[in-house]
Amino acid sequence: MSLTLTRTDLLKEQNFINGLWCDSSSGARYDVADPAADDCFATVPASCADDASLAVAAAQAALPDWRARPARERARFLKRWHALIVANTDDLAKLISREQGKPLAEARGEVAYGASYVEWFAEEAVRGYGDIIPEQVRGMQLTVTREAVGVVAAITPWNFPLAMIARKIAPALAAGCTVVAKPAEDTPLTALALVRLAEEAGLPAGVLNIVTTSRNRVADVVGAWLLDGRVRKITFTGSTAVGKRLARESAGTLKRLSLELGGNAPFIVFEDADLDAAVDGLMAAKFRNGGQTCVSPNRVYVHDAVYAAFTQKLAARVEALRVGPATCPDAQIGPMINARAVDKIDAHVRDALAKGGRLVVGGRRLTDGPNYYAPTVIANASHDMALASEETFGPVVPLFRFGDEDEVVRQANDTPYGLAAYFYSRDIVRVARVAERLETGLVGINEGVLASEAAPFGGVKESGYGREGSRYGLDDYTQTKYRCQGGL
Ligand code: NAD
Repeated sequence: MSLTLTRTDLLKEQNFINGLWCDSSSGARYDVADPAADDCFATVPASCADDASLAVAAAQAALPDWRARPARERARFLKRWHALIVANTDDLAKLISREQGKPLAEARGEVAYGASYVEWFAEEAVRGYGDIIPEQVRGMQLTVTREAVGVVAAITPWNFPLAMIARKIAPALAAGCTVVAKPAEDTPLTALALVRLAEEAGLPAGVLNIVTTSRNRVADVVGAWLLDGRVRKITFTGSTAVGKRLARESAGTLKRLSLELGGNAPFIVFEDADLDAAVDGLMAAKFRNGGQTCVSPNRVYVHDAVYAAFTQKLAARVEALRVGPATCPDAQIGPMINARAVDKIDAHVRDALAKGGRLVVGGRRLTDGPNYYAPTVIANASHDMALASEETFGPVVPLFRFGDEDEVVRQANDTPYGLAAYFYSRDIVRVARVAERLETGLVGINEGVLASEAAPFGGVKESGYGREGSRYGLDDYTQTKYRCQGGL
C-alpha cells in the first residue's frame, strides 16, 4: 500500500495568509518527519511573531464582510468545503497516516469524523437564534442576539491532525468569526491540505489563515496572538500545562478561551457488567489511535468478582492486536508520534512493574521501527504508580481491583482532570447513580466511543472548559448582545 497522493497539490508546504501561499518572512523552515521511519519527507515554514501578526491583520480586515454575510451564505461555503473534504478522503487520510502514523483505515475514519463537524456546523450556522424578552415596562422592547466573537486563534495538537482543527474552524466560520490557525509542529501537512480545500471551496481572502512553526518558535507565534488585542478568542486543544499558560498569558487582553485539555479517564467494570461488551468497549476506547487520545481510559477499575475473568478475556484480545506501519493493510496500531512519547510510555510501564504491577501482555518496545510499543496489560495496578496520575498516552491498560461502588467512584474522581469517564453495569439504578456522581464532562455508559458532532465534547476541572460539537459548540464562538429599545 502506498502513501503517494493522487492530488499532489494537496501537499502544501507554505503558510496561507490573506488568500496567498507564502513563506515565513524570516525564510526559516523545519522538517516534518514520518513517525514510522523517523525520516523527513517535507519541510514547512518555521514562522515567527511577524508572520503571526500578518495573519491577524488579514483576519481582522476580513472580519466585517464575513460576519455581515447572511448565515446561509456562510453555510453554503461550509457545505462546499465539506464536499471537497469527503471527495479527497483518500489523500487526506494518506497525509494523516504519513505525518501522524495511524493506520490508513483509522485515518479515513478521522477524515469522516472531522468532515462531520463541517457538515454539522454548515447546518447549525443558520440557527443562531436570539430571544425576545416579554415587555417589562410599557413601550420598551428587550431583545437578545448572538454575535460573532471576532478574530479567533486556533491551536491544535498532533493526535488528530484533521479532526481537531476542523472542530474549531467550522463553528468559528459558521458563527461569522475569522480565523488564524497554528497546527501542531509534528503534523502541519493535513491542516495545510484542509486549508487548500477551503480555498478551493471559495473562501474569501483573510477569512482563514494558517501559519506553521517549529517547536522552538511556538511560544513566539502564539505569544504574538496572546498579546494582540485584535484576537478576541483562543481555542486550544492540547496539554493542561500549555492550556494553563495560555489562560495566564491571555489575561492582559481578557480573551475568551476554550480549552480542551488532558484527561485521566477512569473505566469501571462493575460485577453486574456484560463482560464481553466491556472488553469490546475498552478495546475501542483504549487502542484507538494507539492510545494517544485525550479520552483514552487511563485507569481501568475491575470489580473483584469479575477481575480474573475480565483480565483473561482482555489479554486474549490485546495479544491479538497487530502493530505496524500505515502501509501494512492489517495494522491496527501504528507507531507512536515520536521517541519522547515512547520513552514516557516505557517509563510508566517500568515504574508500574517496579511497584508491584504484574505484566500480563506486552511491556516492551518493538523493534519493527523507531517508535513502536507493544500493546500492554498490567494487572495489580496501584495508585502510587505514575500511570495512575499522569496520562500515559499510549497502548497500556493498567487494571486496578475494587470491591465497593462508593470506593471506586471516589477513586475515579480523585484526579485534577475531568474529561471522560466510562462504566459498564446492567443495573439501571446504579447507572443513574454513578453517572450523576462522576465528575467529568463526558460519561460513557456501556459504551466506549463517545465523540460525535451532534454532542457537546469538553471537560471540567483541569481538563478545561468550552464545548465542541452540537449547538453548544456554536455558542462558544458567539457573544450575547442585549438591546433595550424604548419610546415604542
Ligand atoms: P501540547 O500542549 O504540547 O501542544 C498542543 C499545541 O500547543 C500544539 O500546537 C503546540 O505547538 C502548542 N504549544 C506547545 N507549547 C506551547 C507554548 N509554550 N505556547 C503556546 N503553544 C504551545 O499537546 P500535544 O502533546 O500536542 O497533545 C497532547 C495533549 O492534548 C494531551 O494532553 C491530550 O490529552 C490533549 N488533547 C485534548 C483533547 C481534548 O479535546 N480535550 C483532544 C486531543 C488532545
